[in-house]
Amino acid sequence: MRNTQLTVRGSVDIPILDGDDVGTFFYFDGLVRGEEHFAIRLGRPDPDRPLVRIHSECITGDLFGSQKCDCGKQLKEAMRTFSVLGGWLLYMRQEGRGIGLNSKLDAYRLQGRGFDTYEANRMLGFGDDERDYGDAARMLRALRMTKIELLTNNPQKADCLRRNGIEVAALRCTGVYVNQHNLGYLRAKRDRTQHTLELGAVEPRDSSPLRDSSRPRDAVSTHNGTPRVDAVGIVWPPVPEAAALMECAPQAAR
Ligand SMILES: [Zn+2]
Repeated sequence: MRNTQLTVRGSVDIPILDGDDVGTFFYFDGLVRGEEHFAIRLGRPDPDRPLVRIHSECITGDLFGSQKCDCGKQLKEAMRTFSVLGGWLLYMRQEGRGIGLNSKLDAYRLQGRGFDTYEANRMLGFGDDERDYGDAARMLRALRMTKIELLTNNPQKADCLRRNGIEVAALRCTGVYVNQHNLGYLRAKRDRTQHTLELGAVEPRDSSPLRDSSRPRDAVSTHNGTPRVDAVGIVWPPVPEAAALMECAPQAAR
């Protein structure tokens, strides 16, 4: 077992989302591998059952809008949701499902030769998923959160948190952002893991962010208002209503 004491080193307010909101960034001492994971609090999270997303770093998607995955859009969706409903984003510096940027780019080259994302990782000597959510659980505890609602399509993430002593009271689905470049990646993710992804036809940009994964996507209309285009041309999904947050899985939580 890991005995390192993880503590909050400090917190600082930063105006983000083009100044539309202020995020409080919490940073830590005592992370196991010295990675600089951090947490952002937005809005006023429910103190009893805060909404949380644990997002693993994806420089290509998060910063540059790569279409090879859906990380960037899921990140924006979470931030927009939290700015309305309140919530916590844990940003985990485990690039490329934990294999690092260089290896991720190596894997992209292999994918260009026809291997899927998991085959490529194995050819490079990695497992399907090298991420570790133990630090995320310890960060939550350092922030005095032991019972949360988790924004994810990945039930394994919830299981891992539970094994690390966090009560996941409910799972909330995230949007699935399909395009012609990431369809193969998302299919592999669905088929090789337990991700709850419905992959229909390639979608127009910025589909409905929050929805019940058990419903056919044509029937999904879980948001109101109109998309907002920010100063750099990023189209934000319409602001979700609280009611738009639906249970991801019927057997949600213990
Ligand atoms: Zn990504």
